[in-house]
Amino acid sequence: MSKSNCSRPHVVIVGCGFGGLAATRALADVDVDITIIDRVNHHTFQPLLYQVATAGLNPSDIAQPIRNIVRKQANARVLLDEVVGVDLDAKTVTSKSDTLGYDYLVLATGATHSYFGNDAWAPLAPGLKTIDDALDIRRRILLAFERAEATDDPAERIRLMTFVIVGAGPTGVELAGAVKEIATKTLRRDFRSIDTSTSRVVLVEAAPRVLGTFPPKLSASAERQLVKLGIEVVTSTPVTDIDAHGVTTENGSISAATVLWGAGVAASPIGREVTTETDRAGRVPVTAELTVDDHPNVFVIGDLAAARSHGEPVPGVAPAAQQGGRHAARCIEADLAGATRPTFVSIDGTSPAAATRRPLVEVATSKWSPNAGTGRGDAVSDSGPAASITARAADIRSAQLWKRRSGAFSSAFPTTASNLAGSSGRTEVSRGGSSDRCA
Ligand SMILES: Cc1cc2nc3c(=O)[nH]c(=O)nc-3n(C[C@H](O)[C@H](O)[C@H](O)COP(=O)(O)OP(=O)(O)OC[C@H]3O[C@@H](n4cnc5c(N)ncnc54)[C@H](O)[C@@H]3O)c2cc1C
Repeated sequence: MSKSNCSRPHVVIVGCGFGGLAATRALADVDVDITIIDRVNHHTFQPLLYQVATAGLNPSDIAQPIRNIVRKQANARVLLDEVVGVDLDAKTVTSKSDTLGYDYLVLATGATHSYFGNDAWAPLAPGLKTIDDALDIRRRILLAFERAEATDDPAERIRLMTFVIVGAGPTGVELAGAVKEIATKTLRRDFRSIDTSTSRVVLVEAAPRVLGTFPPKLSASAERQLVKLGIEVVTSTPVTDIDAHGVTTENGSISAATVLWGAGVAASPIGREVTTETDRAGRVPVTAELTVDDHPNVFVIGDLAAARSHGEPVPGVAPAAQQGGRHAARCIEADLAGATRPTFVSIDGTSPAAATRRPLVEVATSKWSPNAGTGRGDAVSDSGPAASITARAADIRSAQLWKRRSGAFSSAFPTTASNLAGSSGRTEVSRGGSSDRCA
């Protein structure tokens, strides 16, 4: 077992997404040693994954090497590894290659896709959570158009130019908008035999309305906007099967070469290492301090936590994860100072009502707006295109700011713990990203 070879309290942070990174930074001036363990070598700005999936941005635009981000933080070290177990009594975490002791543990491993028990659908209908997912989706979309251009078979051409998105939550709605946009605008002039703007984009939802967790008025507005963009919205229609030909629903089948998954999200399985009582989404119930019951030195934050603030569930959004990370750091600091720990309060902007993931369909399509990324969005209104475009521009600006603040501009060509297996274990960060429109 590896031990932290120092006398200071050892804080192990598992996962360096929004929550883990915020915790790390907030502990920069605290008298502790930090070990960050992540299974990938980069921090990902997930809100812009759509732009990578639809070839609008490169991976290196939204990913930054973790090692690089914390290079000036003397009390932090980084391990590229995948955590597979936690022993609360022994105070250890076990990764694929080691076991590490901790004084404080911060679990921030986020969420993943859920196929509701139909795991065989995963390779047929990828979801969007990581850079690898985004590149896989990009490759599928672009290859479908290439094959449609090459074929002489009209039926096959229609199948190749049909895209089905399963699930009309925020992810599905944004994906549908993004795919339609790439077909109608980005690629429109690039092909000779096909008119990409005639592509079918079908959004299939089991529930009676899109964005089912939002107020009905917003759902109705989003559906109208989707339809206006030319997206076929099919509600009250559960998908019963997905295969190489397309999807089968309770109301018939749709022949499609590309099926994308936006239907289910489940918390990281690491949560089950610290409790047997996860909620339906696999999230860990936490105390008002964001700790696991009876283990005040084990924090669970971000998408992995079923946290509450002001009696309301804290939503799975980036600001809430960051607040959780900073809160864990403040608690550790308070312990070391012999002070009382603060109670977690999710501040304005992350209440369920206020902090939705800006799911309106324009969010997915606004990157091609002349104003996107320039800060010159239309006047902000409460809803509708102007607000969404401004929101996406803000996202792009915050990604840029995030890169600048991290103090480095080197590209993070994604590296994962698993693709290093068998190598010396050194993390190689190669320069340069893939180019736009490369499948
Ligand atoms: C496509 C998409 C769009 C989104 N858009 C928005 C938006 O517009 N606004 C918004 O606020 N939120 C948005 N979100 C949600 C937001 O990104 C999440 O709420 C946020 O990332 C949660 O942060 P986290 O730290 O809990 O987890 P994450 O940021 O997911 O980080 C988890 C980290 O843990 C690592 N990890 C996982 N398992 C292990 C393991 N076993 N061992 C080691 N490392 C591990 C992962 O590699 C990752 O680095 C979006 C999410 C997605 C997927």
